[in-house]
Amino acid sequence: MKLYNIKDNTETINFTGAVKQGLGRGQGLFFPENLSPIANIDALLEQPLVPRSVAVLQHLIGDEIPEATLTAMVERAFAFPAPLVKVDDHTYALELFHGPTLAFKDFGGRFMAQCLATLSTDGKKITILTATSGDTGAAVAHAFHGLPNIEVVILYPEGKISPLQEKLFTTLGDNIRTFAVQGDFDDCQALVKQAFDDEELKEAVGLNSANSINISRLVAQVCYYFEAVAQLPVEQRHKAVIAVPSGNFGNLTAGLIAKALGLPVKRFMAATNANDTVPRYLESGSWDPKATVATLSNAMDVSRPNNWPRVEELCRVKGWNLADIASGSLDDADTKDALQRLFAQGYLCEPHGAIGWDLLNKERGKDEVGIFLCTAHPAKFKENVDAILEQDLPLPGPLAKHLAMEPLNGTIAADFAVLKEKMMGK
Ligand SMILES: *Cc1c(COP(=O)(O)O)cnc(C)c1O
Repeated sequence: MKLYNIKDNTETINFTGAVKQGLGRGQGLFFPENLSPIANIDALLEQPLVPRSVAVLQHLIGDEIPEATLTAMVERAFAFPAPLVKVDDHTYALELFHGPTLAFKDFGGRFMAQCLATLSTDGKKITILTATSGDTGAAVAHAFHGLPNIEVVILYPEGKISPLQEKLFTTLGDNIRTFAVQGDFDDCQALVKQAFDDEELKEAVGLNSANSINISRLVAQVCYYFEAVAQLPVEQRHKAVIAVPSGNFGNLTAGLIAKALGLPVKRFMAATNANDTVPRYLESGSWDPKATVATLSNAMDVSRPNNWPRVEELCRVKGWNLADIASGSLDDADTKDALQRLFAQGYLCEPHGAIGWDLLNKERGKDEVGIFLCTAHPAKFKENVDAILEQDLPLPGPLAKHLAMEPLNGTIAADFAVLKEKMMGK
């Protein structure tokens, strides 16, 4: 697989290099040079998740990873299903929360851990530094916990993620260190960027990022879009539109890559909360991020989505019109309302998924079949979901276990000098 830096096309790299390095020069994102369609998609859609995902990843990654190795990696990473659940005759929920940390981040996080564990055989220590708005942290922490030669440092905005989300990754210990940053998610993301610009730190700790900028996470996520369409009744396959609850826009990027590979999806919809930089941009043409606000769908509290340049690049190389991506945003009051209406229809969801469903309802054409991505398990947002739906959701096993454990996090100011000292001072 050959990739180039979007900011500087002369910098090219292979898959292994891009996985290890994360970002290119000038903090540019790596982008696949070849996104040619896969032959015979219909036959591919008949296959089960694991062999189909191996075929998709092989098409993208090429011969850098032998098939048997890739198969073993996919089997370990995707060890849980992604069921498509019918909500009504023309609406389906793609449930991406059946992994160990109950959010779709498990797909990318676990595949990335497999990549780093398999591809970096030089025995040098790696430090994964990642910023999380909630769910990445848990997925990455669980995927890397206990792996030799890998240290993980997770930054998250203090007080801005759900207590359950926090417990899920601050309680692991061992090779997992976690810091609550006195700021918002964009501050955390800025710290990560500064760290990658600091050659001394990078060299000293073998810095790597597990954010959705890492190409291994994106290619893993492409696979569940194939899984979604594969589960649709055959006669509905060519009518599919997919609504993606979006924060950093990695999920949407993966969906668009799946479409570039020939997956029959008519179009995509990008749904955000009040942090609506992208819907406003698609409407007005001006990129005008505002200060990030805290919402019920906190994993999408991002006003400077770092994967957006990839969406633009993809549209550019494919000759697609950005305006063909439908978009919309919901504030918290309307999110509550959407969650209640969806529940009244018989589907129990959580705020992120409900935002996707609502946009789908508004934008779906008469002949289209809609899929909305359910990005997290409802119990992961138990406090809010219980209050909004007047329920008392039972806690799934992994949540109950971690809730009872002691958090091991530290708190730091949103100041790179402080972070650097913590990371170097070990
Ligand atoms: C991360 C996350 C999102 C946003 O996904 P992006 O790829 O960052 O756009 C949406 N919902 C949940 C529950 C998440 O954890």
